[in-house]
Amino acid sequence: MIKHLINGQRVDGGSRRADVFNPATGRVGNQVPLADRPTVEAAIAAAQAAFPAWRNTPPLKRARVMSRLKELLESNAERICQLITDEHGKVLADSLGELQRGIENVEYASYAPELLKGEHSRNVGPGIDAWSEHQALGVCVGITPFNFPAMVPLWMWPMAVACGNSFVLKPSERDPSSTLLIAELALEAGLPPGVLNVVHGDKEAVDTLLTDRRVQAVSFVGSTPIAEYIYSTGTAHGKRVQALGGAKNHAVVMPDADLDNTVSALMGAAFGSCGERCMAIPLVVAVGNATADALRERIVAEIAKMKVGPGTMAGCDMGPLVTKAHFDKVRGYVDQGVAEGATLVADGRTLKVAGHEEGYFLGPCLFDDVKPGMRIYQEEIFGPVLGIVRVESLEAAMQMIDAHEYGNGTCIFTRDGEAARHFTDHIQVGMVGVNVPLPVPVAYHSFGGWKRSLFGDLHAYGPDAVRFYTRRKQITQRWPSSGVRESAVFAFPSSK
Ligand code: NAD
Repeated sequence: MIKHLINGQRVDGGSRRADVFNPATGRVGNQVPLADRPTVEAAIAAAQAAFPAWRNTPPLKRARVMSRLKELLESNAERICQLITDEHGKVLADSLGELQRGIENVEYASYAPELLKGEHSRNVGPGIDAWSEHQALGVCVGITPFNFPAMVPLWMWPMAVACGNSFVLKPSERDPSSTLLIAELALEAGLPPGVLNVVHGDKEAVDTLLTDRRVQAVSFVGSTPIAEYIYSTGTAHGKRVQALGGAKNHAVVMPDADLDNTVSALMGAAFGSCGERCMAIPLVVAVGNATADALRERIVAEIAKMKVGPGTMAGCDMGPLVTKAHFDKVRGYVDQGVAEGATLVADGRTLKVAGHEEGYFLGPCLFDDVKPGMRIYQEEIFGPVLGIVRVESLEAAMQMIDAHEYGNGTCIFTRDGEAARHFTDHIQVGMVGVNVPLPVPVAYHSFGGWKRSLFGDLHAYGPDAVRFYTRRKQITQRWPSSGVRESAVFAFPSSK
């Protein structure tokens, strides 16, 4: 049985439980407790109690914990990735990729002393100095999705605690084990008990976090309906909230694109991690019928070469979907696409993986003739389903992308610098790639979509994380010279 981590102790809490499955076998691998209100309140209390001493710990000492954690994450990578693959299903190489991206966020958090430096101005008036400081907020909260159980929590709490806050993390109840192991490694790295707490749970736990007056800030990553709920409830309770939501990312392929490289890039972006990535590419917008025909032929050929199986098996490109419910949902979208009139060119619904008949495996699917009115165009499928949309011009492609409710990521494949520049300049999407299919910013830039892919102002990790996890204080200081007495001044002070 998986435990909560509160004040440095592994504890039970809450009478309800959820099964954690191994999606490659369909069997229950573990159970996770679903925290009730008192359990979550105990975690918040532990974070609140740990805050004053941690806030006053020199930033360099806080940063050293991050440096030690980076080493521990590297030396325990195999264990962590095994847990990710066992509970999420993604292939081991992909688990390692997500962990590495997470480690880069820990590395960035180890620069906190430099990042937290304020601004100072001397002699802003007679004998007066002024400066600004980034002060920690207090108890911060993270609520994270299933699809990156290691990386997305590492987008949040390392920067939050490096900035001097304490933290309560509520990971996805579908694959919590790697998240928990990483938190335990943080204790081993020297994070004092109570600075980082982990509570497992569902809506009851989340609602407690969103409404407790001791919580100052909430970072959320997950689906758009829940992101919107988190944003409106958290802000209504006076908290600072950043809530990253779902996506439907388009890749535009121009007639002049290098098709070999484009197709290689699209295969990984569409089917890597079984399409369960918020930066996945589920839609290819082909400019011109000749481009669409050529892409279709090449993608079908590449799909035929793909190997689907358990994520632990060497040589597999794609593992299973995360749960039976999600498998049914994604498969339902494929049925829906056929009913809506799109052309199913590659059908993964019949795939069977020998020895893993109960696993949640769906083979790669390709639709052609996808149109904006269709549900398979509009809605986030979050599975191995790629659709080709045919348009006549770059402008038509851009209008279509701009009209979509999501604006997380997009990319263009072309050899034409002018087209690429026009696209990156005008497209209404937060993260844009040029001949790069998954333009996920590196740890020292921030991550965030536009439109209904992000509620709030500041993006995740990178420089925005310093702003999100601190509040500015502006201090103006004067020490009157001894013996100098000034009379009262009633006019507004100025530098005239
Ligand atoms: P989800 O919204 O179902 O769950 C996310 C978190 O919210 C989990 O911790 C879950 O326990 C909690 N939650 C679920 N229902 C809740 C409710 N009714 N009330 C309160 N809390 C609730 O998302 P998921 O299925 O775990 O993850 C996939 C989604 O996350 C996709 O939509 C994907 O696009 C999105 N995602 C977005 C980004 C991004 O950066 N924009 C990154 C990764 C994933």
